[in-house]
Amino acid sequence: MVNAKTRQSTPEYNTTKHVTYVTNRLKILLHYSKYISNSNIPCCNCCGENSHVDFLDIDHIAGKNQMDSEHELIQLDYSSKLRGKGLIHWIIDNNYPDGFQILCHNCNVAKGLIGNNNTCTHETIRLEQTFDDMTAHSSFEL
Ligand SMILES: [Zn+2]
Ligand SMILES: [Zn+2]
Repeated sequence: MVNAKTRQSTPEYNTTKHVTYVTNRLKILLHYSKYISNSNIPCCNCCGENSHVDFLDIDHIAGKNQMDSEHELIQLDYSSKLRGKGLIHWIIDNNYPDGFQILCHNCNVAKGLIGNNNTCTHETIRLEQTFDDMTAHSSFEL
């Protein structure tokens, strides 16, 4: 007799579990890249990084903790404690709820830095450039 514990530690069992995890994660990366970035391949919604899914992450747009107070997510039993496999299962079980995007690790970390107000530094640079362009092309005399 093989008991459940023995079965769960076999390489076959672990490989199957890992394949399920990778497949589910890829489904989520594809879904939000298509839905939010209009891209057929997984990519970062901020900088467009798309060279490999290992560089990408599922990001809570509003910030992890703010999402705990969002009514629609609370109804779906969302918790900021969900991460990794737990988060992946929750997203799929709840049919890809709004509130998530795909970011690369760089953008995700920059967005989470204290003082960045949940905005990636790229966004700040883009805003500055837009402002510079506007100033450069402005017909107003300063
Ligand atoms: Zn990025
Ligand atoms: Zn960025």
